[in-house]
Amino acid sequence: MNIDFSKNTDGLIPAIIQDSETKTVLMLGYMNAEAYQKTVDTKKVTFYSRSKQRLWTKGEESGNFLNLIDIKNDCDNDTLLIQVKPEGPTCHKGTDTCWDQKNEIVYGFISDLENTINTRRQNADSEKSYVASLFQLGINKIAQKVGEEAIEVVIEAKDENDDLFLSESADLLFHYLILLQAKGFQLNDVVDVLKSRQK
Ligand code: AMP
Ligand code: ZN
Ligand code: ZN
Ligand code: ZN
Repeated sequence: MNIDFSKNTDGLIPAIIQDSETKTVLMLGYMNAEAYQKTVDTKKVTFYSRSKQRLWTKGEESGNFLNLIDIKNDCDNDTLLIQVKPEGPTCHKGTDTCWDQKNEIVYGFISDLENTINTRRQNADSEKSYVASLFQLGINKIAQKVGEEAIEVVIEAKDENDDLFLSESADLLFHYLILLQAKGFQLNDVVDVLKSRQK
């Protein structure tokens, strides 16, 4: 392939990384001639990292490699479109693509909520909050509350009212997070179990 690495003085050209199946744009990196050759030879996408100032095989630490499927040159030979089959999330922040922070925002919020619940738990004696009073009642009562909220979700699922369904779902999730903490766990512990079930 005739690639013009000399167009930029640093010898680097951008490489757009696209999922070969979903066509989602996953990330953008830079390649010099050496990185390109290593990518072709090993079939694992390798960039020249400007911050590390060395060749960087994506996934070298995380194991989330980008397996090479196809490389396309653009109209004037100075930008690559690389189709890959990704192993795991491509972004180091844990999302499939570097342009999707949705999960991060959701988990960030849940994580903040878990911290708040934990503060209420640790000060359960002095706090006047609802969550603190639940922790004082103990695990059995909290578990019972989760059961009640679950039944309310079941009831609202049969109804047409989406607002009520979502509201009861929020109640369920909230009390479930409290139960997890009462048992000494966090949502992440459950996520780990789910992940371990995926092949
Ligand atoms: P990895 O190549 O996946 O083993 O990640 C090694 C390091 O490279 C990470 O700690 C990040 O600093 C960086 N990194 C990984 N993936 C990306 C990405 N998609 N965009 C920018 N930097 C990344
Ligand atoms: Zn171009
Ligand atoms: Zn990223
Ligand atoms: Zn409810």
